[in-house]
Amino acid sequence: MRIVLVEPSHPGNIGGAARAMKTMGFGDLALVRPKRFPDPQAEWRAAGATDVLRAARVFDSVDEAVADCALVAGTSARRRRIPLPVDSAADFAARVTSTGAAGSPLAVLFGREDSGLTNDELERCTRHVVIPAHPGYASLNLAMAVQVVCYELFKVQSVASEAHEQRWDRPLASAAELAGFHAHLEEVLVAIEFEDPKAPRRTMTRLKRLFGRVELDETEVAILRGVLTHVQRAMRKRR
Ligand code: SAH
Repeated sequence: MRIVLVEPSHPGNIGGAARAMKTMGFGDLALVRPKRFPDPQAEWRAAGATDVLRAARVFDSVDEAVADCALVAGTSARRRRIPLPVDSAADFAARVTSTGAAGSPLAVLFGREDSGLTNDELERCTRHVVIPAHPGYASLNLAMAVQVVCYELFKVQSVASEAHEQRWDRPLASAAELAGFHAHLEEVLVAIEFEDPKAPRRTMTRLKRLFGRVELDETEVAILRGVLTHVQRAMRKRR
């Protein structure tokens, strides 16, 4: 499982996240445009987890950080206008082990200390994870949110290795494959004048959410793209 911190501003939180991960047996930390990294404060807060910190990879975009992942989940304390399917951290951990996602690379995104994840970033996710907290103030410290999610995943891990045995017959599609499919679909929707690029509606957001809900595998994505290619070919023939 990969933990992705998007534009963390405080290096202490990066160190704290590394420590949280290591205590739960995770080591794959990705940082998207961190404000200050490396930094002595990150080392200090990482304590015995400086190895996780030093192995952390820095990316320019969320897309690059999750390109190879089959399941991308976004954490947020707030509800969105077009909400994704929402899981509590515990239900999310249980789901990961019981679906085809077991054994496929998984990423969990965490947002900025001040403003969380943008809607655009959340749209790259297929699920939305919420840590249940007091409605009066539900916003946890970034590193503590990482701790809770890692802890929930740690607890179900033994179950995960069993579920691994009976996984899906095809690997789940990666985030990069899904993004390619979304772009192809949008291109065709514009070509058949279902979508007007000058007056975009929320259709793509809803379609991405629809396809995200069913956890497409690689073959299913290839079939859907085949259909789109045939639509394009039929249109060219008619012209
Ligand atoms: N003020 C921000 C919250 C930032 S907290 C906002 O309104 O969105 C920093 C990050 O910690 C969040 O982006 C999220 O990834 C995680 N986080 C904090 N509290 C959480 C909660 N209750 N559930 C899920 N994620 C949470």
